[in-house]
Amino acid sequence: MPTAVALFSGGLDSTLAIRILQEQGFQIEALNIRTTFDCCRVPAAQAAQSLGVNLTVLSVGDDYIDLLRHPRYGYGKGMNPCVDCRIYMARMAKRLMDEVGACVVITGEILGQRPMSQKRPDLANIERHSGLEGRLLRPLSAQLLPPTIPEQEGLIDRQRLYGFRGRSRGPLIELARRYGLSEIPPPSTGCALTEVSFAPRVRDLVERDQGAGRWDFELLNVGRHFRLDPDVKAVVGRNEAENASLEIYFRQAPPGRAAYVRPHNFVGPDVLLSGLVSARAVRLAGALILRYSKRYDPQDAWVQVSRDDRVQTLRAEQVPEAEQLRPL
Ligand code: SF4
Repeated sequence: MPTAVALFSGGLDSTLAIRILQEQGFQIEALNIRTTFDCCRVPAAQAAQSLGVNLTVLSVGDDYIDLLRHPRYGYGKGMNPCVDCRIYMARMAKRLMDEVGACVVITGEILGQRPMSQKRPDLANIERHSGLEGRLLRPLSAQLLPPTIPEQEGLIDRQRLYGFRGRSRGPLIELARRYGLSEIPPPSTGCALTEVSFAPRVRDLVERDQGAGRWDFELLNVGRHFRLDPDVKAVVGRNEAENASLEIYFRQAPPGRAAYVRPHNFVGPDVLLSGLVSARAVRLAGALILRYSKRYDPQDAWVQVSRDDRVQTLRAEQVPEAEQLRPL
């Protein structure tokens, strides 16, 4: 039985791509790739199980950060380097294709569906730079694209592929019904990089912290971020769950790169300082805690500052500068 590797998000498009090739007698190895910025993830494992396909879940490597810093094809409306990201994912799929002896990689991409990464030249660039020339099939738009090698060899019947174009979901939902899909997966990309409101904090890190690594990028998903000076940022928890996450981040921080500031004798948010922590940064962190606290005695407000193996208790004071700081 011929095998195809499917780049699989769990969404409607990649689900249909799989069903189309299953109809042509292909065994499918689904590959779900996690970036640092997935937010409302579609449950790929459950979807793969309903489709009766094996699922491999992989995370992007540290080199994904280089791509985020210098995308060859630029960013979309947020800080989403979609074309480069798709190339990166297609390369990962190629490695799995070689490993399992598959003859093609399939995706749910649709010509013209997304302005950033699914125009005709984008699809061609993704194919060329991933090393998948002739072996990257988009079953939902294949009839509008050059035939792949498995089509030319007769392994895949081009007449039973589709020619969808654009953003309309109606025809896809109809196709899903024809395939008997009981649940129609949601259309969300689930990628925070596409959100305009998330972009400033990513841009800040990319432009101002050349040494930032995976820890710094993952931290972007939690709390309110304030740039205090070129060397240090404050991240303020917005609720108990975020405070707990920030504390875990603090414990995992690169040595000498973080401090943790929390209220000592009143109720308020925790602050993770990330970067080269100065006395001024600690003072501002205390002031930010006061800014987001409802009840405290201004004459008797104390914070606990943890840093490497040292813990100090310091008085917190309101600082006008901290009042004016705006979250990224
Ligand atoms: S939306 Fe996010 S995960 Fe999807 S291709 Fe763009 S950058 Fe990559």
